[in-house]
Amino acid sequence: MNNVFMKNFHRLPVVFARGEGSWLFDTNNKKYLDFGSGIAVNCLGHAYPPLVKAITEQAAKCCQVSNYYQTNTAAAFAEKLVAACAPGGMKSLFLGNSGAEANEAACKIARKYSLKKYGPGRHTIVTLQGSFHGRTITMLAATGQDHFHKDFGPFTEGFSYIPGNDIAALEKALDQKTVAGLLLETVQGESGVRPLSKEFMEAAARLCAERDILLMFDEIQCGVGRTGSFLAFEQYHYNGKPIKADVVTLAKSLAGGLPAGAVLAGEKAADVFEVGDHNSTFGGNPVAAAAGMVVLETVNNPAFLAEITRKGEKIIAAIRSWNHPAISEVRGRGLMIGIDIDREAWPVLEAGVALAHENQYGLLLLAAGKKTLRLLPPYTISDKEIDQGLELLKKLL
Ligand SMILES: *Cc1c(COP(=O)(O)O)cnc(C)c1O
Repeated sequence: MNNVFMKNFHRLPVVFARGEGSWLFDTNNKKYLDFGSGIAVNCLGHAYPPLVKAITEQAAKCCQVSNYYQTNTAAAFAEKLVAACAPGGMKSLFLGNSGAEANEAACKIARKYSLKKYGPGRHTIVTLQGSFHGRTITMLAATGQDHFHKDFGPFTEGFSYIPGNDIAALEKALDQKTVAGLLLETVQGESGVRPLSKEFMEAAARLCAERDILLMFDEIQCGVGRTGSFLAFEQYHYNGKPIKADVVTLAKSLAGGLPAGAVLAGEKAADVFEVGDHNSTFGGNPVAAAAGMVVLETVNNPAFLAEITRKGEKIIAAIRSWNHPAISEVRGRGLMIGIDIDREAWPVLEAGVALAHENQYGLLLLAAGKKTLRLLPPYTISDKEIDQGLELLKKLL
């Protein structure tokens, strides 16, 4: 392995050369079943032919023109993405390149919205303990996990944290005089695949509406169909109707493997950004947009989304049926699944990779927190591949 990389990752001992569907092949042509999708990125699997075609065709035309200008490719993608998020209340968007960048834009929108309407001092963004919002200094400040904060302060001011699913704490934290926005992962990913409760989501929607605090969902991991609906929060209700958000952030799966992020805004916040307020050099780049178009065309379809739900339920039911002594809980939505185990997750990931040497193929898993395995398989995974992966998982435990 290459040694010039900074040592900021714990890497597994495998070097990949190519992929096909749900499989990756290492430089020795050994095969691995991919239950991680590059952390929820390759939602259509590897080298999905329509995606490859869209990317290569656009790359042959132009890769970027800057936001001095528009391209039809980015405009068509933007329109389709806003339409896909319209059930969640979205009206406009900004296209960037990553999750952290999208969340930064969301926080800028909340602060400016509040400043224009209420004046200074109302700038706090409330997030959850155990949340993960990205690795920039400001998104570390937004992330409610102390171990990410060590060594990197001082941080951006104006973030506070409450425990997830604690309605009393939420009610207390959402102070109308100081809080501009509430930023929630609908399903917490990094810290263990934890969906928010329906009561908490309903209270969040109600309190934000009553107090004119922007309700913002970080769906960077759980959005774009991962949970069986295009946006995960569509499955929650307020006042008997599906919840509508003020701001939503997306990235990871958005362009099926290319870097892309988006911040979307609803009625209240759609026009908060004015000329000069925000930009990103690579943002809206047409190659990522062309890829994103294929993702939207494929994923945002009721039959396709129903399959994600079905496959996820199948996986959870299968794991529960093992009654495995090493597993204390399985939870999730769609193809976003967390498995609490009786040991550290990392050695299980190592063993999954090592299987490729004794077995016909290895299994690629992710961790979420210390003792939770996280499964984020591609949406296109077949039933047979699910069975193959689960058989190996059982063996590993
Ligand atoms: C991955 C992730 C981010 C950060 O995205 P990057 O593209 O790595 O900046 C933010 N929020 C959530 C919920 C994520 O899963």
